[in-house]
Amino acid sequence: MTKKENILSWDEYFMGLAHLSALRSKDPNTKVGAAIVDDNHRVVSVGYNGFPKGCSDEVFPWGRDGDTLDSKYAFVVHAELNAILNSKWPVVGCTIYVSLFPCNECAKAIIQSGIHRIVYESDKYNGVDTNIASKRMLKAAGVELVQLKDTIHLSVEKIPNPEL
Ligand SMILES: [Zn+2]
Repeated sequence: MTKKENILSWDEYFMGLAHLSALRSKDPNTKVGAAIVDDNHRVVSVGYNGFPKGCSDEVFPWGRDGDTLDSKYAFVVHAELNAILNSKWPVVGCTIYVSLFPCNECAKAIIQSGIHRIVYESDKYNGVDTNIASKRMLKAAGVELVQLKDTIHLSVEKIPNPEL
């Protein structure tokens, strides 16, 4: 690999930030992170999947099976929506970086917030009805969709501080 190939592009760098944000998620099965970035490559917001404020992980379920009230789906806020809602600035004209292609609910929020570009890695639900609905809306709204050619893998380690 040449020196130049070793340097991360902006898209790869911000995908790395999305992955780092995902490490905050307490979901034992699917950790998703998102980063929203403006046209000048400034980070506007980040988010990860989790329960709403005040809804404790001790009380609300992370399971994927069982009745509606016993599984996570009715309660969890996706990374993309959290990143949009967390932003202190308007996200109009921004790019959102997300490890997994946005679901139909997040697609609605992305479109309505004015985000005009989505960079993603995995599209593992391609062909599922909610994925088709998501793409149908995003394409109709003119949101640019970019799947990264290379996936980004972070290696993050916590090492006890030798000074303490
Ligand atoms: Zn979603």
